[in-house]
Amino acid sequence: MPPPLTRVKRKIVNLSPVPCFSMPPASSRSTEEKMTALMERLGVDPRIQDYVTRSIRFHTHPAPGILISVFMVDYALELLGASPGERLYAVCETRKCAPDPIQVILGCTAGNKGLQVLPIGRFALTLNRPSEGPTSDGVRVYVDPAKVAEYPAIRAWYTNAPGFDKREQEGPLFDEIFRAGRRILSHKRVRVKVPGKEKWEAALCSCCGEMVPGDLLEDGACMGCGSLAYYEEISP
Ligand SMILES: [Zn+2]
Repeated sequence: MPPPLTRVKRKIVNLSPVPCFSMPPASSRSTEEKMTALMERLGVDPRIQDYVTRSIRFHTHPAPGILISVFMVDYALELLGASPGERLYAVCETRKCAPDPIQVILGCTAGNKGLQVLPIGRFALTLNRPSEGPTSDGVRVYVDPAKVAEYPAIRAWYTNAPGFDKREQEGPLFDEIFRAGRRILSHKRVRVKVPGKEKWEAALCSCCGEMVPGDLLEDGACMGCGSLAYYEEISP
């Protein structure tokens, strides 16, 4: 006999606007324990520890860029006088690692338009508040090459130095990143353009016949059939 259906009262445990995670596999748990032990040993602030743990789970493995961008997000928040949970907008200037702590800590995601990732390649991010006007004043935090020079392991990673083996030097590198914290970062006050909320109409692509916002058409065809084509169809 199946058990009778009962109404289960769910406990809400996560009120912050961050993704929920399933339990990581055993190997990740041991990695997580090691990372926690390292942060405890180095006296890393509990707030940073929490950011690091959640960001690593989201990213699926620890990476130097994750740790550094946690410090970048934390620093940018302080400079802006903001806190996680506020509606913020972020621009990330690299595709490597840094978009993940931004999404986890700030809830600015690729899907909610809170996060824009530009493939510039600089290890930098900009954070600003919403604005009714055409611009918003924010803060840009970046890894400063002059400051990195004082940290040999971080420098080797940052410059992708010949002979640098990420796996081999991961231990000293993580250690150095936690010791350095914000000391490898600099910031600028910046003004960013706020994208307008133009009305749009749907339009059919003359090539594939699928629907897109009309202003995204190029000569009547969608960009997937034009400049952003990334696949060729193969037989089923
Ligand atoms: Zn098309």
